[in-house]
Order: sequence, then structure tokens, then C-alpha cells
Amino acid sequence: MNILTMLWKNLWGGSRTMRFPLKPTEGKGFRGRVTFDPELCTGCAICKFRCTSRAIDFKGGKGEFTWSYDPGQCTFCGRCIEGCKTHAIHQDAECPPVYLTLGELKNSYTVARKPPAPRPAAAAPATPTTPPEAAAPDPNPTPGAAQ
Ligand code: SF4
Ligand code: SF4
Repeated sequence: MNILTMLWKNLWGGSRTMRFPLKPTEGKGFRGRVTFDPELCTGCAICKFRCTSRAIDFKGGKGEFTWSYDPGQCTFCGRCIEGCKTHAIHQDAECPPVYLTLGELKNSYTVARKPPAPRPAAAAPATPTTPPEAAAPDPNPTPGAAQ
């Protein structure tokens, strides 16, 4: 798009934001706040590294970890959810509430680390198989046949 056209649209195209208490339409696929299920979280911290707006914080401790989420910093992009292998985080379909103080909506969970899953039992050693007996030589070979 031509830069002048873009400038014209931005100057005269009207407001793209809404005044409180107006809300955007919450339809199918609306991406709201991130919800967290501590039962499914393995504490891998991938969501924290995928969140470029630092809405997710993760602190590892001895035998536990703390996962925090601040909707006030969230852009609702969904990258954290795409990266979570265990589906421990989702986005709800409601518009986030209005907040007045920074960090007011922040939630923190301290979760005990789960013990590692037991390893599958080692497979029993294979029993040695007896080699097939060598074919007995033909007592009446056909003349001219290859031996
Ligand atoms: S929410 Fe998912 S990506 Fe984030 S730490 Fe837990 S398991 Fe890992
Ligand atoms: S939706 Fe985006 S901005 Fe919000 S916590 Fe996830 S990665 Fe961060």
C-alpha cells in the first residue's frame, strides 16, 4: 500500500480501539486469558521462552516450580499454547477483565515436581537358537549337476 494512502487511512479512518465498557465480540475462536492446569504441567518452561511479552514467568526450585501469568502483559497471541506438549495451558473464550493496577490480574501456582515415570522393564535376554543343521550331502548326486 502506498505510504500516503496508509497515512490518510490512519488519520481519517476512525478509531480502532474501544472505550470502556464496550467489549469486542466474543465469538468462536476468541483468544482470551491463558488458563493453567497444574496437574498437566511438567515444568518444562517452554511456554515462558515462547512468550516474548514476558507475561509468563517460571521459577524452578528444589522439588517444585512456580508458574505465573499476568494477563496485563499478555498480547493473547497463543504462542505459549502452541508450544505446550502436555496441553496444560489453554485460552478461554472471554474478554479479559479491565484492570487498574499493574499486576492486578496476575496468578501464580507453585507446583510440586512429579517423580520421573518408571522406566520400562528391561527385555529378557534372547535365548540362543540352535543353528540349523548343515544339509546332509546327497548320497546319489545327479551327474553334471552343480554341487
Ligand atoms: S504449561 Fe506446558 S509448556 Fe509451560 S511449563 Fe507447563 S508443561 Fe511446559
Ligand atoms: S498468549 Fe502470547 S503473550 Fe500471552 S502468555 Fe501466551 S505467549 Fe505470552
